[in-house]
Amino acid sequence: MVAPRNIAIDNTSEALRSGGTFFLETFGCQMNDHDSEKVAGVLLSRGYRQVETPDAASLVLYNTCSIREKAAQKVFSRLGEYRTKQAAGQIIGVLGCVAQQEGENIFQRAPWVSLVCGSASYSKLPELLSQLEAGNQRVTGLDTDTDETFETPVTRRDNPWRAYLTIIEGCDKACAYCVVPFTRGPERSRASDSVLREVRELVDLGYSEVQLLGQTVNSYADPSARRIRFSDLLLAVADVPGIRRVRFTTSHPRDFGADIVAALEAQPKLCNHVHLPVQSGSPRILRAMTRTYTREEYLEKIAMLRGAKCEIAITTDVIVGFPGETEDDFAETLSLLEGVRYDSLFSFKYSPRPNTPSLSMPDAISEEEKSRRLTILQEVQREIQSRRNATLVGNTFELLVGNKSRRENQWSGHTACNRVVNFASQERALLGTYVQVRATGAGPNSLVGEHVP
Ligand code: SF4
Repeated sequence: MVAPRNIAIDNTSEALRSGGTFFLETFGCQMNDHDSEKVAGVLLSRGYRQVETPDAASLVLYNTCSIREKAAQKVFSRLGEYRTKQAAGQIIGVLGCVAQQEGENIFQRAPWVSLVCGSASYSKLPELLSQLEAGNQRVTGLDTDTDETFETPVTRRDNPWRAYLTIIEGCDKACAYCVVPFTRGPERSRASDSVLREVRELVDLGYSEVQLLGQTVNSYADPSARRIRFSDLLLAVADVPGIRRVRFTTSHPRDFGADIVAALEAQPKLCNHVHLPVQSGSPRILRAMTRTYTREEYLEKIAMLRGAKCEIAITTDVIVGFPGETEDDFAETLSLLEGVRYDSLFSFKYSPRPNTPSLSMPDAISEEEKSRRLTILQEVQREIQSRRNATLVGNTFELLVGNKSRRENQWSGHTACNRVVNFASQERALLGTYVQVRATGAGPNSLVGEHVP
């Protein structure tokens, strides 16, 4: 493992040494959100205070996403706004995927940045902070060859009711379009007893819903002597007294087995929702993407989920406009959508990323054509969701209430199957509670309902 390198020393860290304040902005996925919660925990445990605006902070951190070009550009435009801040004594740091991908180039493009740390090196963060506090002006943590996961005694969670908990970091798959194996490093699973200890702590803090996270969460491989399977870990988490709901995301189709479906059937505390990204319905494009499953194999997993004893909501991710995607390939994606009838879908235009094999693939699709396909796909899915949600009107759901609208007596929450339901209630204090709500109407993206006291 390479030690963090320090390039220069100056005196801009005076504010850090005398009990600093930090501002942390997060871009990207739930994994990044949760990493930021842990980074905030590390800072709070060192005596830093979190502030609401970058101007009020001695340390300004951006936890970045590079999954799509636009996201990476946004980071540099944000950094541009901070050109003058270093002179004012503020320290600027870049964390996450753009940090890992760009490395020390960030110092060239934005010389006012002092800290560059990729997500695979977060376990080194206390050491890096010590170096900043000691006055080192350029500090990097860019190793991806670590076998450590990012565990910290303090995590400052944003959501008071649903707690994220990373059980596996990095990814050993090699999808042709994806930067994650480069930016987050190889798969490292967290020991099951450590996961269960944190779940018990979360219950003590008042949480009843936990969401287990990983880029390929179901590829979990317990490194402890217990060697429990992912499905057994799900059951063990659900068995922790005080836990009412357990979610997990994102599942990789190749590693999705019947044991996970059996666990969902056996334990109602395991939420009846599986996010199973397909990315394309075309066998040819799946091969080009190196997704490691065929269309048929994917559909077998769907049949397994549809055949479960309980109804399980299925959601997915789709990329349109991968290099070489023909009209026929795209039509196969649309036919897969019609066949599976997903409950929801995240769709993206293919975005070429540095270091990925697809970058050099021929037959790039024009931006205009990608946009056309995306619009068609989203329209097809919108229809599917409208039809599907309409069949749920009249059903009663248990919701965890997460929001109170500014409109009088209006609330919203998530069902176990992860649908949003907006509902009316005269009650005064519903946030964070579980309520029964009967669906009275449906749109493509949510349901409306009434509280059943
Ligand atoms: S499974 Fe593929 S898309 Fe998902 S994080 Fe790993 S390489 Fe990326």
